[in-house]
Amino acid sequence: MPLFFSFSNQQINRWNEISFLAYQRTFWFCHYNSIFHRFSQVSYVALFHSLIFAKNTGNMKIKIGHGYDVHQLAAGYALSLGGVVIPHEVGSVGHSDADVLLHALCDALLGALALGDIGHHFKNTDPQWKGIDSKILLQRVIEMVHEKGYVVGNIDATLILEAPKIGPYLLDMRTAIASILQIALDCVSIKATTSETMGFVGRKEGVEAHAVCILLGK
Ligand SMILES: [Zn+2]
Repeated sequence: MPLFFSFSNQQINRWNEISFLAYQRTFWFCHYNSIFHRFSQVSYVALFHSLIFAKNTGNMKIKIGHGYDVHQLAAGYALSLGGVVIPHEVGSVGHSDADVLLHALCDALLGALALGDIGHHFKNTDPQWKGIDSKILLQRVIEMVHEKGYVVGNIDATLILEAPKIGPYLLDMRTAIASILQIALDCVSIKATTSETMGFVGRKEGVEAHAVCILLGK
């Protein structure tokens, strides 16, 4: 019912009040006429459903975003994942701290608002981002999201790497991300998997991450 989508919440609330009063009047007026009463009841139930549907969807702003990132692994680099530095014999190679999970998340948030990608905002040739903690980049991105009038509903991310085991660090990662995004811990999901020894991840040459997010209009 696209006709209803242009109504404001206030207008729809008023419509609900008017419709309910009309239904009440019809109910009592048709009390002794069961056929007409039944017809009226069905009509008004349909109308209520249309209005409630319009109220719940027509004025709600929702955006969805997806991000993907990959980094090479090599000796002599730190392994930063989800804002946590994990002790390991190899780390991820990149211009910043090369936190693949936070970069995928930045891209998901930027993508939801069609603001381009992380490379557009933080160029890998710009010396100011050399070795930077990606939590700072995520902080910049969430400020853009808020400036656009949105907050994060929830995020869900998957890390793909062969080693080390990520389980012991997941809570710290989720806590760091929830704090930056200003959302509850149970709105931040991070999973980790391997690629079953296949491909460049399987050969321990690289690490991948996917992330999706929902943004809600303020
Ligand atoms: Zn990256």
